[in-house]
Amino acid sequence: MTDKISENIFLPERLKNLLSRTMAGSAPTRDDCVYMLSFEDTSVEAGVIRAVANTVSRKRFNNEAIILGQMGIETFACPANCRFCVFGEGHTKFPDTEMSIEEIIERAETFCSGKDLYALFLMTMHEFEIDRLLDIVKNVRKAIDSRTKIVVNIGDFDENQARELHKAGVNGAYHVCRLREGTDTDLDPDDRKKTFQVIKNSGLEFYYCCEPIGPEHTAEELVDQLFLGVEYGCFQHAAMRRVFLPDSPLSGHGQISELRLGQILAVVVLASLGCVTTDNIAVHEPNLIGLTSGANVIYTESGANPRDEATDTSKKRGLDVAGARKMFYEAGFKAIRRGDGSTVPLTLDYVQSFFQ
Ligand code: SF4
Repeated sequence: MTDKISENIFLPERLKNLLSRTMAGSAPTRDDCVYMLSFEDTSVEAGVIRAVANTVSRKRFNNEAIILGQMGIETFACPANCRFCVFGEGHTKFPDTEMSIEEIIERAETFCSGKDLYALFLMTMHEFEIDRLLDIVKNVRKAIDSRTKIVVNIGDFDENQARELHKAGVNGAYHVCRLREGTDTDLDPDDRKKTFQVIKNSGLEFYYCCEPIGPEHTAEELVDQLFLGVEYGCFQHAAMRRVFLPDSPLSGHGQISELRLGQILAVVVLASLGCVTTDNIAVHEPNLIGLTSGANVIYTESGANPRDEATDTSKKRGLDVAGARKMFYEAGFKAIRRGDGSTVPLTLDYVQSFFQ
């Protein structure tokens, strides 16, 4: 029976050859990546691409899972005006909010209470007040477990600001030149890339992502954008789909499926073989198809979230840390890696202990 099934599976020679090379550790070319994105997400070819990426990633990252936590600490109509974001100033209906330091610390402690959070992300709008942010970082650093790193997800910044953030206790920065940056946003793609270099020069870890993916993006656009993370030596690569928000200017394009996101993520995983500094791969938002297509990182969320109309995403779209552990267990991961590199076995007993 097995033989009969395998006899009937046809894979194009080009795909077989390039996937064999990736299994041996060799990164696909840009053309190969465009080719892998050309298959229907329900096809055998796409299924095999995801399976190979899953195998390559588990081996590369030792089948260890990473849980991140992101907190949106303030919101206002954002001048970057990203047409996919709930905070864009041209269309936002979101109220202005600002968390107090006390609330930020309380939420940070909740994120870190199980000791498994690899890194806590502090997110602002494109514009931010550096002195307040430095103050928040110093206070959060004192309050949370020393094993948890701190990462910022903020607008563009210069080398002085990067040095100050690093000195205050920041370990990394999430920064992206988004798909159609400058067309679907009011930002200059070159400014985004300048900040990549600032991040690299300052010794911060560089978190990148192929985002925000919609049905209208071509395979070539996806490949050009995802290769920026490879070229700039990202610490984390990732894939994120654009979430359908009825009032956003891009809502007419709709939303890709988690299955298509898994296929794009798989290509990110294989392309990242060309980047020696890539340490882990994330999928946003958390989902099992992504975790079985090569991702070993998911984000839990609290406070404001660009993909959620609720003022506190932990009550709506945002997953919590206990839910993240469970999702990793279901996806077959064997350990959780913490921010200091130590690991804890991901057993059923361990997962369930956080639900009692
Ligand atoms: S995605 Fe970020 S930069 Fe763009 S509008 Fe939203 S908050 Fe501002």
